[in-house]
Amino acid sequence: MPLVSLEGISRLYARADADVRALEDVWLDLERGELVTLTGPSGSGKSTLLHVLGLLDTPTAGRYRLGGEDVGGLDDDARAAQRNRSIGFVFQAFHLVPHLTIAENVELPLVYRGQARQDRRRRALAELERVGLADRVAHRPDELSGGEQQRAAIARALVIDPILLLADEPTGNLDEASAAIVLSIFGAVREAGTCVVVVTHNPRVASIGTRGYRLDRGRLEVAP
Ligand code: ADP
Ligand code: MG
Repeated sequence: MPLVSLEGISRLYARADADVRALEDVWLDLERGELVTLTGPSGSGKSTLLHVLGLLDTPTAGRYRLGGEDVGGLDDDARAAQRNRSIGFVFQAFHLVPHLTIAENVELPLVYRGQARQDRRRRALAELERVGLADRVAHRPDELSGGEQQRAAIARALVIDPILLLADEPTGNLDEASAAIVLSIFGAVREAGTCVVVVTHNPRVASIGTRGYRLDRGRLEVAP
């Protein structure tokens, strides 16, 4: 049984002037330990597909099964709980909470889980060590470089031990050296058995995937 199974997924945005078909009949199976890259021009549906995979958006047609469970029928609370249990999200713009320390940012998903303070801190420190930020735990986000902030955001995504890690243009705001570090972290996460899906414009990123896909006006195709 695949980890993820999208069967005929479509996402239609109904608008007064013209309907937008952000996704059109997408079929996709993903397994543990894959690193899948997703490319395509602006507006082709990349973010929409990641949001559907991450339970941040609901398709208007088709079926989504995660770990064998049909997640299409879940209500908002059940979706949030499923997300907190199994899905990590990394954004281009980091989205760290500015007034919290790096350690507190990384602990946040565990706060929502109701985990005890000491356990949270221990897990957060382990993830921060894994991304090379052990000496930055007490800093605020604006005291870190962009590359360091993104590594902290990745630690926050990994602290729940997700089965699915989704990243939307994670190196878009980073220099080459910082981007290379992020890629090596994704490679290690994949090797540990997590399924990683990365949306990217960067050909270097696209080349590290075990499989590559491209979106063209909402239609998914295998990347050339
Ligand atoms: P990409 O990430 O590849 O740039 P998106 O997934 O963000 O593309 O968008 C795909 C299409 O869906 C675009 O035409 C976009 O304008 C449209 N779209 C995205 N979000 C909305 C929304 N909330 N309402 C209406 N149209 C949207
Ligand atoms: Mg996008």
